Amino acid sequence: MITQEELGGRLRRARERAGYTQEEAGRAIGLDDTAVAKMERGKRGVGALEVKRLASFYGTSTEDLLEDPTAEGEVPLTVAMRATAGALGPKAGAMKRRLQRLVADDRWLREDEDDAYDAQDFPALDLPKDLEDLERGYQGADLFRERHGLGHSPIADVAVLADELGVIVARMPLGGDERSPEGCSALDPQTGVAYVLINSDKPRVRRRFTIAHELGHLALGHLHGGEMVVDETVRGRSPREREANAFAAGLLMPEAGVADGWQRLERRLGQRPSPIDWIVWLAASFGVSDQAAAYRLVNLGRIHAVGGTTADSIKEMSENPEMLREAKRRLGLSPVTADAERGASEVGPAMRARVARALEEGAITVDGAAEMLHQPPEDIYRWVAQIGIRLDAAEAPL
Ligand SMILES: [Zn+2]
Repeated sequence: MITQEELGGRLRRARERAGYTQEEAGRAIGLDDTAVAKMERGKRGVGALEVKRLASFYGTSTEDLLEDPTAEGEVPLTVAMRATAGALGPKAGAMKRRLQRLVADDRWLREDEDDAYDAQDFPALDLPKDLEDLERGYQGADLFRERHGLGHSPIADVAVLADELGVIVARMPLGGDERSPEGCSALDPQTGVAYVLINSDKPRVRRRFTIAHELGHLALGHLHGGEMVVDETVRGRSPREREANAFAAGLLMPEAGVADGWQRLERRLGQRPSPIDWIVWLAASFGVSDQAAAYRLVNLGRIHAVGGTTADSIKEMSENPEMLREAKRRLGLSPVTADAERGASEVGPAMRARVARALEEGAITVDGAAEMLHQPPEDIYRWVAQIGIRLDAAEAPL
């Protein structure tokens, strides 16, 4: 069984593929165009005979229109990792379906772009085979920075960087609690285009780390067998998870950049910083969590030199809110920054531009764009008005 909304969506896609307007479809089966619009929005039931007539008018079959929803609009990507009991939970399932849908929609949008795929190819980094997992991740991150000319400064926006590299980054809100998945990624085996979907309800520093972690899966070749990774948490224990985490830490906090940061902080304070000052400073300047900063400093072997402290005491420090607050106050770091992306549902600029083009050419409707961008139609109308896309009179909001 499929829902009325789902059937409506399929009817709309079938009509758009066939290149008809709602009026033309309505006329062909003896209905007025508002009836077709209502059907497509799932606001009106569709009779068996109507499905049959529309299917034949659109050049498709009734079976295709009524097919089981789990098979529709999906691409064959298998979930290979973090397949713990939770990975099969409803939120991870929703994330997986959204990613599959994203891949399918983007394939469709790219159909007219002849050389789009060649330009987006994302080869795995060439690393020695015998490296231990953490070392593989760190070296991979260094090589990645080198290959893309990133130097060793902090990355202002890792999602923008991914987009520049041809990776489609999308966001969906799935809850901010510990049990909600962080993100997932896949490499379309047909086109070689990479996709990252992240849970926008997580705090900013966690989202940055997750995108970097998913870029790690991609750069380290974990996805090159047409697999999809769903990350319930980025505190993974498997070798591939540790590799991706080390990659994320190395990408966001490159060793040379950390050394520079140390010198800047020392100059600023006029003395050797204490470990806790060092942690909050690194976290703030590289846009990572205090825990990630502490972990990185321990792994780089830098912080032991500071106060003769142990790795465990450093990690404890980074989880002591009182100490963190005090250090931030001392250094004048603001604990709260505006976070407009939190809870957002959207896709990155490259795919959004393709949606805009399809809208303007009349290849998709506002409802179609809303579905592709995973946003309500009202948002699409607002977006259309803001960026000056001209819609057909039939498409303009009432
Ligand atoms: Zn992972």
